[in-house]
This record gives sequence, structure tokens and C-alpha cells, in this order.
Amino acid sequence: MRAEIIAVGTELLLGQIANTNAQFLSQKLAQIGVGVYFHTVVGDNSERLQQVIRMAAERSDLVIFSGGLGPTQDDLTKETVAAYVGVDLVTDANAMKYIEDFFTQRGIVMTENNRKQALVLAGSHVLPNDFGMAPGMAIRHDSTTFVLLPGPPSELYPMVDRYVMPCLIDLLPEKQVFHSRVFRFYGIGESALEERLLDLIEKQDNPTIAPYAKEFEVTLRVTARAATAEAGEALILPVEKEIRDRVGQYIYGTGEDSSLHEVLVNELRKRGESIACAESCTGGTVASLITSVPGSSSVFHGGIVCYTNEVKNQVLGVSEEVLATEGAVSEQTAKLLAENVREKLGTTYGVSVTGVAGPDSSEGKPVGLVYVGIAAEGLPTVVKELRLAGRRQAIVGRAAKFALFYALQ
Ligand code: ATP
Ligand code: MG
Repeated sequence: MRAEIIAVGTELLLGQIANTNAQFLSQKLAQIGVGVYFHTVVGDNSERLQQVIRMAAERSDLVIFSGGLGPTQDDLTKETVAAYVGVDLVTDANAMKYIEDFFTQRGIVMTENNRKQALVLAGSHVLPNDFGMAPGMAIRHDSTTFVLLPGPPSELYPMVDRYVMPCLIDLLPEKQVFHSRVFRFYGIGESALEERLLDLIEKQDNPTIAPYAKEFEVTLRVTARAATAEAGEALILPVEKEIRDRVGQYIYGTGEDSSLHEVLVNELRKRGESIACAESCTGGTVASLITSVPGSSSVFHGGIVCYTNEVKNQVLGVSEEVLATEGAVSEQTAKLLAENVREKLGTTYGVSVTGVAGPDSSEGKPVGLVYVGIAAEGLPTVVKELRLAGRRQAIVGRAAKFALFYALQ
């Protein structure tokens, strides 16, 4: 089944609102294995809406409209679909009663245009609107099913969950689900990852394998199509094994929303361990990421932003000599910062970040040179040297993520 989503509304074209209804509908359809081939957005204009309907009817089996069912002049979806299908608009008695009751209960006089909201396509299957006045509807014409839904997400979402999804599942010739697993990587770039998995990605069919990068992290989504989630899982397992064999050392987690800081906090919590950080070039980003995780107070004691050499020296005990000879951006400074913040704050681990975020170089050291120190109770301190690319914000973001990643190792 080929599905298409048509969002109607000039406010979408003007960029005043984002088309989140299409996103929601696509996610819902994916869950039941219906492929969405097109997202179309069209303004509140009858002629252009007609064009879009004609095209959609030709290329799609299922066409879902969002918006334009309301009482005002610019709400044209019903009228335009009715004209295309060749049916009249008739008053739906239930919807009319709901609208009348709404106004009576609130003691307001109903304006005439509100009657318009009770109009439905003759012969359509009416979908109740439990949170608004305009009902939705579904109608079949030739080989295409048209579904009309109200624009407000507070009305559309429950209507889809309660009334549209059950009908669609009945309509499907064979039951299919999309089952996916997300692998989250750190320490390897998107293109390097793709190169290591190129033959797998090239011959992919079911499951499909798609890498993408977001917020300085790389993610790989493996999606299988199958009759059940269990059957999908069986298709994913051999691919997962192959991926882990090749690039397993860079995988820090699986799952949709387990970012590095969440995985770190959860891991420390499980082990009953704690962490503190001393940050120079990242200016508190590491602390901010960690504390964005609810419940991080059980593992995170605190962080010190030691931006100047005075603070590195006076608060965190990096000697003037080290600062003068090695510099603030050096392996030795990173080591001392990590060890001293750990000791001062009494934690299992101390993490430090010191580097040149740019745009100008400093101490004669190049932009992007960053040292991350990890001090652990009873173990030798490890310092990693990074050469990061990008602008100031990207260097700070990547350096902070690297610090979290190394803290996880
Ligand atoms: P109403 O009865 O409220 O007029 P309607 O079915 O006529 O509903 P629209 O007038 O097109 O729908 O949109 C109403 C509101 O719903 C918009 O102002 C917007 O806030 C929201 N909305 C509409 N379309 C979308 C969309 N595609 N994604 C997210 N929100 C939307
Ligand atoms: Mg409207």
C-alpha cells in the first residue's frame, strides 16, 4: 500500500507552523508497515488543492489529509474532496448534536458557520472527534481511500489512535510491522562508519541500514519488515552481529534516546560510582549534559569551570610552573585537573577538558587541539589528545562528548 499525506494550510507554507501532523502520521503508518511515499503541503486554495488531490489519487492508495475541516472560509478540504469524488456534503446528525450541545452548555449563541463543521461527505465513514467539533471521515473512490482529519494535533492524534489505526489495520492485505534497532556510536565519523559497513549497506534490502549524524554523534538504524516484531528481530540479529564484529568498539548504546550522557549516568548509577569535572574550553558543557539527565545528582558531585590560569592554579592546584612551561592546553594540565577535581570533590572519577576552541589559536597551539583527562581512584590517569575540526561551537560540543565517551570506557 502506498500512502501519501496532504497537509492543508497556508500557515505551513509560510513557515509559521511545522508540519508535525505529517511526522506523527508517518510514524504511525510505519508501525503497521504502511509505506509513506509522499508528504505534500498545500495552501488554503481550492484550485491548488484540486491539483494535489488529482495527483495523489493517481499515485497513492491511501491519501490522508490534515486540516481544513473547520468552520471558516479558508477551510476547504471537505468541499474540494467532495467535488473530486462527486458526492454531496450532508449533515451528520451526531456531529450536529455535539456542536449544538457544546454551545447550549456554554450558553453561547452558535454562529451559522459552525453548522458547516457537521457536514460530511455523503456515503463516508465518519470518524468521531472526541476533542473538537469537526468530525473526520474516510471514503473510498476508485482504488484510493481518502481520510480527512482535523488540523489541531490535540484533535488529530486521538482520532488517529482511536479510529483511524484500527480501520487501517483491517484494510491491510497482509500484516507487516517495521521493527528497528538503533546503534549509537562515538569515536568514529559518519563516513568512516559507512566505509567499514559499505558492503552491508550496499546489499541491504530487508533489513535496511541507514547511518545518520546528529548532535556530534553518529547513529545507525537497522529496520526490518516482517509479519511480527519477533520475526523482525530474527532478521536484525545476524546484521547486528556483523556490525558488532566490525565496529563494536565504537558502539556505546542502543536505543532511540540513550545519548552519551544518559548512558554514562545510568552506568555510574548501576555501579554505585560518582564523577566530577574540571572544564576549561567546554565552559560547563560536560556538566550541563550530565545534569540534563534526571536523577544525575546520585552520581554527579559537581564541576568547576576553570577558564583562566589563575583558577586552574588557585582552585585546582595546577602549578604555575606547569602552566608556564607546558601551558594550559597540555597533557600535564589535563592530568592534574582531572586528578585534583576528583580529589577535591571526592568522586570515583574526575574528568577534565582543556583545549583551543578557536577561532584564534592560543599558546601557539592550533585550534581544535584538546586534551581530555580521566582520573580514577587507584588507577593511573589517562589523557587523550584530540585534534578536532569545525568551528568553535562544534569543537566545544565534540570535546564535551569525547569527555563523556572516555569517561564511559
Ligand atoms: P479548526 O477547526 O481549528 O479550524 P481545521 O481542521 O480547519 O481546524 P486548520 O484550520 O487547517 O484545521 O488548522 C488548525 C490549527 O491546527 C492550525 O492553526 C495549527 O495550529 C494546527 N495544524 C494544522 N495543520 C497542522 C499540521 N500539519 N501540523 C501541525 N499542526 C497543524
Ligand atoms: Mg481551520
